[in-house]
Amino acid sequence: MSRFWSKVVQGLTPYTPGEQPKVDHLVKLNTNENPYPPSPKVIDAIQSAVGDGLRLYPDPNAQVLKDTLAGYHQVESNQVFVGNSSDEVLAHVFHALLKQDLPLLFPDITYSFYPVYCGLYEIEYRTVPLRDDFSIAIEDYDQPCSAIIFPNPNAPTGRLLALEQIELLLARYPDRLLVVDEAYVDFGGVSAIRLVNQYDNLLVVQTLSKSRSLAGLRVGFAIGHASLIEGLERVKNSFNSYPLDRLAIAGAVAAYEDEAYFVQTRDWVIAERIKLTSAFESMGFEVVPSAANFIFTTHPHYDAANLAARLRTHKVIVRHFKLPRIDQYLRISVGNEAQNLALLTAMRQILDDLNREKTS
Ligand SMILES: *Cc1c(COP(=O)(O)O)cnc(C)c1O
Repeated sequence: MSRFWSKVVQGLTPYTPGEQPKVDHLVKLNTNENPYPPSPKVIDAIQSAVGDGLRLYPDPNAQVLKDTLAGYHQVESNQVFVGNSSDEVLAHVFHALLKQDLPLLFPDITYSFYPVYCGLYEIEYRTVPLRDDFSIAIEDYDQPCSAIIFPNPNAPTGRLLALEQIELLLARYPDRLLVVDEAYVDFGGVSAIRLVNQYDNLLVVQTLSKSRSLAGLRVGFAIGHASLIEGLERVKNSFNSYPLDRLAIAGAVAAYEDEAYFVQTRDWVIAERIKLTSAFESMGFEVVPSAANFIFTTHPHYDAANLAARLRTHKVIVRHFKLPRIDQYLRISVGNEAQNLALLTAMRQILDDLNREKTS
């Protein structure tokens, strides 16, 4: 605390990112990174962008990336907004579009950055409890608000809301903005991007961090009606004219030019998620049906924080949120075959140890 802090800064509770450990040889399953490397074509493109060109500013509009994303998702380039990570894109969305007279609604269990942005931009919000099975019931959003935001699939639950339900929300409330954060949609959902030309109250946000294995490159984007994008551009151009550097633009474009690699690695993650789910269920865990690259799981007999701490002594790190309703759950990113094997071996050992401690 300093006497020079503004009122807003004094009141902030910043987001706590998952740990990025400094020690090697950990099985890192705590931040939903992709276990597979980026496409070799991405690496080549970034390497080719390293050179004298770095002397010059990048294209402030990242037009080549917007055109690539527009082509990929079959929209016009002026329907695409790009930013330095989807977290930054979301920040601009909150700033440009979600500060209104009526409150913003989002689920009580969701991406914990949303209330942080509300604090930063002084946006009034109300949370809507998920149902007991962690599903979103759209009837529960039948209350006064200016806008709704949620991830689909939701985080940290992994549960998917069917696209038909999203369309029902859009049609029922044409004067509310619906922001769908599709950070994980490639692992099991259908993108709502296909609805943007029909509904001008829909904005879809995606990231290259998860399904494109590029968390380190920091690229995200939003797709919606051109007038929503124009609002985001106004905020972006009042904040940082060049959010995407030359390397990020080159790498991101290349990621969309290697569809075969994307499909292969995505399918591997999905196959590993299915294996991991059965293995956890066979150890007595309940696993929330996941459409993401992580599982959300609880054991009826063992404390989640204790399991997470014990996994750590086995050099496996997972995420535990000390939050109401979910403090007995672990969020575990789907790793590659070797990582998942290490996780399962450690967990079996821990459950054996706990059983022995109980009976002795
Ligand atoms: C990971 C994640 C993001 C952030 O992605 P970045 O592009 O890496 O900032 C946004 N929303 C949700 C729900 C996420 O899980």
